[in-house]
Amino acid sequence: LGSDVAENPAVEVDESEEDGLLGGLQIDTSADIEVPDRLVDQVIGQDDARDIILKAAKQRRHVMMIGSPGTGKSMLAKAMSQLLPREELQDILVYHNPDDGNEPKIRTVPAGKGEQIVEAHKEEARKRNQMRSFLMWIIIAVVFGYSLLIAGQLLLGILAAGVIYLAFRYSSRGSDAMIPNLLVNTADQQTAPFEDATGAHAGALLGDVRHDPFQSGGMETPSHDRVEAGAIHKANKGVLFVDEINTLDIRSQQKLMTAIQEGKFSITGQSERSSGAMVQTEPVPCDFVMVAAGNLDAMENMHPALRSRIKGYGYEVYMDDTIEDTPEMRRKLARFIAQEVDKDGRLPPFTNEAMEEVILEAQRRAGRKGHLTLELRNLGGLVRVAGDIARAEDKEVTDRAEVLQAKERSRSIEQQLADNYIERRKDYDMTVNQGDMVGRVNGLAVMGDDSGIVMPVMAEVTPSQGPGEVIATGKLQEIAMEAVQNVSAIIKKFSDEDISQKDIHIQFVQSYEGVEGDSASVTVATAVISALENIPVEQDVAMTGSLSVRGDVLPVGGVTHKIEAAAKTGLDTVIIPKANEQDVMIEEEYKEQVEIVPVSHISEVLEVALAGEPEKDSLVDRLRSITGKALESGSDA
Ligand code: ADP
Repeated sequence: LGSDVAENPAVEVDESEEDGLLGGLQIDTSADIEVPDRLVDQVIGQDDARDIILKAAKQRRHVMMIGSPGTGKSMLAKAMSQLLPREELQDILVYHNPDDGNEPKIRTVPAGKGEQIVEAHKEEARKRNQMRSFLMWIIIAVVFGYSLLIAGQLLLGILAAGVIYLAFRYSSRGSDAMIPNLLVNTADQQTAPFEDATGAHAGALLGDVRHDPFQSGGMETPSHDRVEAGAIHKANKGVLFVDEINTLDIRSQQKLMTAIQEGKFSITGQSERSSGAMVQTEPVPCDFVMVAAGNLDAMENMHPALRSRIKGYGYEVYMDDTIEDTPEMRRKLARFIAQEVDKDGRLPPFTNEAMEEVILEAQRRAGRKGHLTLELRNLGGLVRVAGDIARAEDKEVTDRAEVLQAKERSRSIEQQLADNYIERRKDYDMTVNQGDMVGRVNGLAVMGDDSGIVMPVMAEVTPSQGPGEVIATGKLQEIAMEAVQNVSAIIKKFSDEDISQKDIHIQFVQSYEGVEGDSASVTVATAVISALENIPVEQDVAMTGSLSVRGDVLPVGGVTHKIEAAAKTGLDTVIIPKANEQDVMIEEEYKEQVEIVPVSHISEVLEVALAGEPEKDSLVDRLRSITGKALESGSDA
């Protein structure tokens, strides 16, 4: 099971162009890239998981894969099934049990034999029936002839013939019961089975016995014929894949564990009131390798015994969300595009420029400088949408323009919602993007994973009757308190105003459910300082950043999306933490629209954001001088 295949066999690489987005691949379109045959060789990144799958396939061990959706978990599980030996596959048959009709018998035979056995039984039954009906007609003829000719009784003849006919029909019923039910048929399997039991209900997972509305009187279906295999049985000698393992109900998890331990599991009717519940087969083989998957949460909520079972008899592996951006990885991503085009079968090949745009998107989506995203299901979606657009227009190739269009179309729900929201706010004129104002700051937040939004913060400072309080509206109270606490230490040093004697009201204007507000502390601090000192804030500026008690601006998440949101809203300047500078990967079109100002201290934020020269300058100077000292004493500690 050699695991290393040249990343792009048969394609030349120009080392001098390795820094390009295609990593120096010398090709004309994605069609020049060869796609490896084995699924395991098609997996991009995830080297640890791949090695474990190769090892586990050899040793027939269970695997637990933890990671984000769309990173290749089910792909790897399927790849594993291709690595298991096909020779071991078995057909499983259910037979009528003449001693106890409710306990059907189970037999296993080598792959392909099952069909033959069933055919042989059918043939035999057919012959037997032929013989019987031949016999029946002879007897009817004799009896009928006798009644009519010898006794001269037509009516009696007909009556006797009828009785004989029914007697034969009734007694032939039993012969169908002799034909076994082919429960699992592996005759046409090219590889060991791969069964995806994600979200399966008990019957689909563990097998079932159908209900029979006619339970007697010659109309009933024999019980062995009503037995249905579950995913665990169909996965016999292959791979059972269960994603979101924790969502499987606990009883099913328990039974799954028994199945793993025993390697066989009887099938019974799953719904208690059905006649199927009276039936229980002999144990049915279910010798599968289990690949369980989920996110970190899944591990916590999964049945502990099942988890330890997998852990004790197998491997656990974590899936990567991103991978280091190297020429080799970019070349592999180009191959990924070729794979997705191949898999779909109808998409026009991608031009080099189109592939470059997709790889650029992989860089952007990584959210980390120098990395590429490995959430490849989504990236594959982009490839498909772009290809579909090209196909709809009868193009020979998929070009960059189609990729750009696809990006526009394949936005997440959150992005669409955020855009919608921005539009609506523009309608109502709620976004202020020019002039200046005391106590109002355009903050930036992230909605969902990948959508930025402008979230204005307003602060007002009023004298307090008792001890000062921080009063915030909405769910962001905690964030507001923390931000004010952090900034109060600084304020105390430079301001004559004693904020412990004041109430500070903070309002997150139109804050949205689901908005992550952790990065609002620089915004809150700026709004409070502005309100306290009565210095207006420039409204064409947006900002994001976390704040330390010493006034250092600390990095936050989602800067790229936030900057894009600011640009879309028509703001001119975005202040971001200096430490996030390398994470900025905004699209070309926004680059001209906004100026990005990286800062490392609150004094720099105020310098950019505050309006009104003299007051501002003196404030910023004071802040610099006191925090400069703070910084020195801080570094001594
Ligand atoms: P998961 O099970 O982790 O949610 P899947 O394995 O179902 O993700 O991935 C969905 C699709 O995305 C795959 O069929 C494949 O086309 C693509 N894909 C995901 N991860 C990878 C990867 N690491 N390498 C190549 N393709 C991938």
